Amino acid sequence: MSMLVLNYWTPSKLVRLKLVDNDTCWKCHEEAGTLVHMLYTCRKNDYLWDGIINLVNDIFKLNRSKSPAVCVLGLLPDNSILSRRQRLWMRLAFITGCRIILRHWKSSSPCSLREWTEQMSKMALYERVV
Ligand SMILES: [Zn+2]
Repeated sequence: MSMLVLNYWTPSKLVRLKLVDNDTCWKCHEEAGTLVHMLYTCRKNDYLWDGIINLVNDIFKLNRSKSPAVCVLGLLPDNSILSRRQRLWMRLAFITGCRIILRHWKSSSPCSLREWTEQMSKMALYERVV
């Protein structure tokens, strides 16, 4: 995950390197485009992360809150109820969320939950675990 993120420079980093003079987020055009903002706190990502966390909670009967630790860093609940395969699926669910955000890194459109669902289905792990 960390290697993947390193390929994407944020507005904040570009300003720090004096390559641009405006660090506003490319998506919302409201807040500073830090890494955490771009990957997580930007309101344009809310729909995607809310959708993923709600789905994960439904499927595994959990009650997790959305947080950057869970969504971006993939830190999962230490929950022995979950099988190894289920934990793997959950990790994949969040990594796929990050990938979709990275794919539309400079786009101002909100990230799509539909794209996430399509991506997960393509990986064919979706039905086997659920
Ligand atoms: Zn933003």
